[in-house]
Amino acid sequence: MKRGLTEQAKQLKAKASHTVVEQFEKQYDHSMSLFDKVDHSMAYQTALLYIKETEHNSSEPISCRAGCGFCCHQTVFVSPTEYENIKDHLVANDIKLDQAHLQAQRDDISNGVYHKLKVLDRRCVFLGDNSSCTIYEARPIMCRRHHVYSEPEHCASGSTSEMRFDVSPRTEGHLSAYFAYYQAAPFQDYLLATPEVLK
Ligand code: SF4
Repeated sequence: MKRGLTEQAKQLKAKASHTVVEQFEKQYDHSMSLFDKVDHSMAYQTALLYIKETEHNSSEPISCRAGCGFCCHQTVFVSPTEYENIKDHLVANDIKLDQAHLQAQRDDISNGVYHKLKVLDRRCVFLGDNSSCTIYEARPIMCRRHHVYSEPEHCASGSTSEMRFDVSPRTEGHLSAYFAYYQAAPFQDYLLATPEVLK
């Protein structure tokens, strides 16, 4: 009797997971068909406009400035279009990157331990010696949408408990559509796939 019930439970479980997987696949197909209908360029431009709107209409002053750089110690995702802009910027401005640093970060991203690296090792490969972005004009939307409202000293000291920050409201839906469609990837994946820009 006991054995029979266990078998029955196993069968129910197998049946349930099969149904869940099918439902998930259906929903996934449905979502992707919706993404196909979105004007992705428009989604991107709208997200940029919303970010500018936040910068101009913020009721509190935004403290982000050249030289703070705390946010530039995290994995940054870019879309292929953004990467093309970055690549052009690197070539046009003859910007050289530290390839060993880049490779080490990429290995750590693949191993899922990026956030366990020391803060200095997590430093974005585009962050200059003076903690300013060397590709500022071409920086991706991921870097534009975070706004810090607390005193810049807290960013400099890395004191996250004292920091107050937010992403631009209203950008998320547009960004999700854009990134889901374009399958954004970390900087490092693109840069190491096109080593000619590093020479
Ligand atoms: S691209 Fe520029 S703004 Fe973005 S994380 Fe790197 S250094 Fe910071």
